[in-house]
Amino acid sequence: MDAPLFDHMRRHRFKKVVLVNDTASGLRGAIAIHSTVLGPATGGLRIWPYADERAAILDAMRLAVGMTYKYAAAGLDFGGGKAVLIGDPRRDKSEAMLRALGRMIDGLGGEYVTGEDVGTTLADMETIYAETDHVLTLPEHCGGAGDISPATALGVLEAMRACAKRAWGSPELAGRRVALQGLGVVGSQLLRLLDEAGAKVIACDLDPEKVARAEREHGVETVAPESIYDQDVDVFAPCALGAVLDDETIPRLRAGIVAGAANNVFAAARHAAALQERGIVYAVDFIANAGGTIYDSDRLRKGGFQTARAWAGVHRIFARTEQVHTLADAEGLTYQRAAERIAERRLEALSAVRLLDPPQST
Ligand code: NAD
Repeated sequence: MDAPLFDHMRRHRFKKVVLVNDTASGLRGAIAIHSTVLGPATGGLRIWPYADERAAILDAMRLAVGMTYKYAAAGLDFGGGKAVLIGDPRRDKSEAMLRALGRMIDGLGGEYVTGEDVGTTLADMETIYAETDHVLTLPEHCGGAGDISPATALGVLEAMRACAKRAWGSPELAGRRVALQGLGVVGSQLLRLLDEAGAKVIACDLDPEKVARAEREHGVETVAPESIYDQDVDVFAPCALGAVLDDETIPRLRAGIVAGAANNVFAAARHAAALQERGIVYAVDFIANAGGTIYDSDRLRKGGFQTARAWAGVHRIFARTEQVHTLADAEGLTYQRAAERIAERRLEALSAVRLLDPPQST
């Protein structure tokens, strides 16, 4: 990743990357606007103690490209964007900093819309919202959807059911054994849904309190985090961090399916093929974990928030996961690449419409 930033922008067809600074509050960061072909560039605000400025800018760019794909594949009318601020959220984040960023986002006139990410909370979004309307994720008392993790978890369950149908001929999860990695906001919701579906869950988390709660409330078996890959299960559900599937962990998996919420589960692109070569059916992360954002963004669609439409959009992740598997079969692609193609085709089709249909001059 030593190439000049403009080479990187050209290769990935970036629209713009805005560097932001507010000396008084210590704000330093970048807003990466990858694409606005489908709508405003949308993606969360990450606050992280990056080693250097280049690492921060490149992370914003990498995450923004991911958002373009996620929205395009989900059928939503948003482009991909991401904001990052350099700093430790526990120590450096302040109202002054968030409001300064809010004013900068407002200055972009709606080209970028922000939301929650690592190092930011719904309360932070409310602070930014004091300065700009261009905030997607908001608490309910500000007119937003509030906690979107139940919708994310339901989408993951739908993706898992679609994988079950492909692997075993039936989407039924009753009696299936699931290794659940991570009992955070999404993992704990997924645990509840799996419990209701009659699956048998074996869970783990680094946090002993979350483990104890899962044991108490759901009577699940729990294991040490390092042994979650070795469990004799039907499904592995990664709901912790990314990059967990690599040369060391893939051979250990005994599951027939991988489906979870974690973003970027593969340590390197080749691990998608490695998983498939082992005959494991997987749900592509950005398709499976889009439920929260599908639900969240419904209020921006025509007619405002409609509960039935929002949940229907989340349930549609079942069909979208099937579509990925079908395209992979038809074109000899990995599931990961097939999902990317679905997003790219929508982007190509709609940008072509724009090119072929310029505004009429009178
Ligand atoms: P979270 O921080 O609430 O939960 C993550 C949990 O994983 C924590 O409890 C943490 O202790 C645990 N963990 C970390 N490393 C672990 C390990 N090695 N073994 C076991 N447990 C470990 O995060 P979340 O919001 O539940 O998100 C989970 C994943 O899903 C993340 O990758 C996130 O990017 C992705 N995701 C979340 C949403 C959402 O709606 N929250 C939407 C899309 C994607």
